[in-house]
Amino acid sequence: MIKKIDHIGIAVKSLDEAVKFYEKALGLKCEKIEEIESQKVKTAFFDVGGVHLEILEPTTEDSPIAKFLQRNGEGVHHIAFYTDDISGQLGQAKEAGCKLINEEPVPGAGGKKVAFLHPKSTHGVLTEFCSKE
Ligand code: ZN
Repeated sequence: MIKKIDHIGIAVKSLDEAVKFYEKALGLKCEKIEEIESQKVKTAFFDVGGVHLEILEPTTEDSPIAKFLQRNGEGVHHIAFYTDDISGQLGQAKEAGCKLINEEPVPGAGGKKVAFLHPKSTHGVLTEFCSKE
């Protein structure tokens, strides 16, 4: 079952510049910066009342975030829902006709497991499920 919105992913060209913006213009505090090799991104996290901002900078030319930036420029990249049953959630979405990017959960930020649904099957929003399991 989905418990809450865990985080909102935002694609940026420069993590340093974006962190400066969120700290200086919005007064938020960067919690941590983490590189996720499997996703080819460097991320910065901000806690906004329990919902996080996950700022994403590509680490390689073929990173999914690099491709997103080429197509769309900077902006909202995905919304992540926290679930207590990521496999069950994927099964439910598949049964409802969604196109899964990950048939099985993969390692994500903060030691979580993550899986994505294709935006073409979710009304345009790249949708992530994440869980601690
Ligand atoms: Zn995410």
